[in-house]
Amino acid sequence: MKDIATIQRTKSILERHGFSFKKSLGQNFLIDLNILNKIVDAAELGEASGVLEIGPGIGSLTEQSAKRAKKVVALEIDQRLLPILEDTMSPYPHVHVIHGDALELDIQSIVEREFFSQGIEDISVVANLPYYVTTPIIMRLLESQIKFRSLVMMIQKEVAERIGAKPGTKAYGSLSIAIQYYAEANVSFIVPKSVFMPAPNVDSAVITLKMRPKPAVDVKDEAFFFEIARASFAQRRKTILNNLTNHLGKDKKMEIERLLGEAEIDPKRRGETLSLEEFARLADTILPLKNS
Ligand code: SAM
Repeated sequence: MKDIATIQRTKSILERHGFSFKKSLGQNFLIDLNILNKIVDAAELGEASGVLEIGPGIGSLTEQSAKRAKKVVALEIDQRLLPILEDTMSPYPHVHVIHGDALELDIQSIVEREFFSQGIEDISVVANLPYYVTTPIIMRLLESQIKFRSLVMMIQKEVAERIGAKPGTKAYGSLSIAIQYYAEANVSFIVPKSVFMPAPNVDSAVITLKMRPKPAVDVKDEAFFFEIARASFAQRRKTILNNLTNHLGKDKKMEIERLLGEAEIDPKRRGETLSLEEFARLADTILPLKNS
């Protein structure tokens, strides 16, 4: 039997099941075997690997992961895809599809039950993400504290540019900070629109996030560190002092200015110029102002 990710087989599966794409669910299926192989190559899967996939669609990527990994667990929101996946995944009994929203399912318990409790410790996320929820899904996976080895994900090229962005660039923002805090981030390769059915409006890229054994910087209060980073980018053209004052309260302006000095950060700088280390130092220094 041909692989799912060929135009011919994809079309025949869709026709047989009378499936129509839902744009609102970010349904752009991969139809290029070469790209799929490059994605699973980037994940460096082996016989002992476990794969968590978000949004298997009709199973084109799931199939390629299943050929290399010990077990694949795929979370799919669209109920109409369940009978299709039952059909296309029938040659792969080690694929388990779970119906639900990746933003609501308890991913920690799923990983515990499906992998760790079965002795599968080497877990990677391998996914072609639905683009309307790229950032919340990535954040949810990172913040889950699950010990993934790596996350290899297809996302919009424009978001991919933000993940590894350096301070002082337009692409640098709170997403860059969150990702670099948890992981070493790389853009593995760029993907043309033509390898999807239907073709999306934007170019795509595959990113690889290798989870750090411990975060890139030490902070006293992780949630406050992210809160401060987000607040510092709220209005990009404003100074760090103004953004922090807007966030923490106008009455605290003088105290914020004093603490910025203590953290050796010029209050006139813009948030986008601060490095991860500087955000960490800043968050620790102004921690006394949290909820004060
Ligand atoms: N993996 C397939 C491929 O590469 O051809 C399909 C990828 S398609 C870009 C995104 C998939 O995610 C669709 O199957 C869609 O139904 C599913 N999806 C969308 N939102 C989701 C959510 N919140 N939770 C889980 N799956 C979701």
